[in-house]
Amino acid sequence: MPNTERLFRTEAIIMRRRDFGEADRLLTVFTPGRGKIRLIAKGARKPTSRKGGHVELFTRVDMLVAKGRDLDILSQVEMVEPYLPLHEDLVRAAYAAHVVELLDRFTGEEEENARAYYLLRDTLGFLCTEEIENLRLAARFYELRLLSWVGYQPQLFTCVVGNEAVNAQDQYFSYAEGGVVCPEHAHTERMMPLSLGALKVLRYLQTQDYETVRVLNLRGALHAELERVLHGYITYLLEQRLQSANFLRRLRRESMAD
Ligand SMILES: [Zn+2]
Repeated sequence: MPNTERLFRTEAIIMRRRDFGEADRLLTVFTPGRGKIRLIAKGARKPTSRKGGHVELFTRVDMLVAKGRDLDILSQVEMVEPYLPLHEDLVRAAYAAHVVELLDRFTGEEEENARAYYLLRDTLGFLCTEEIENLRLAARFYELRLLSWVGYQPQLFTCVVGNEAVNAQDQYFSYAEGGVVCPEHAHTERMMPLSLGALKVLRYLQTQDYETVRVLNLRGALHAELERVLHGYITYLLEQRLQSANFLRRLRRESMAD
């Protein structure tokens, strides 16, 4: 096989990194064309390494990667966008860690998801430039859009139980059914009350682009409700994913034991 086929160039955002061996780093990055990949940056921790400074968390880089037998190998890397405010401000850093962790937990390795990549890229940009008090709105926008791009878009316009259009009144949200339930059908478990105001904001976030929603000025109580509902739903989904991953692992172990 000619050598060039074993190399590929890609843009990537550094999601995780940890020390590996004597002087190497193990990186988890997200790419537009290949989804999440893991690779090794050899010698990245040597003081003389030119790669070292370019593989900081949350930075966007352009990389040349060599396909390895077990792990892909970082061959060259160039900084595209350092997102410096994420490294200079603890609050911005905490939001960046949150958005990256969500993407990490909702995606498997090498599952292409270009929309999720561009959402992450744009959101890291918003987290650099928004006023601190606007960061939570940027995070809610990201969460709702990410849920859509990873296959869990909540149903917000019709009741998930009866499928009828919901009336303009306070509703419920079902984690298990993934959407709004009208008061009449709200009798299953794991349901959160959802005020009409919160429902309207969720619909707005789900259907408008960020430039439109960023000017919303919401009361603190409404922000708290949005965070409670979205984080409750996300926690529920991640528990389900974890359980099905454990189940698959157990199946694999049992089939190997046969
Ligand atoms: Zn209903």
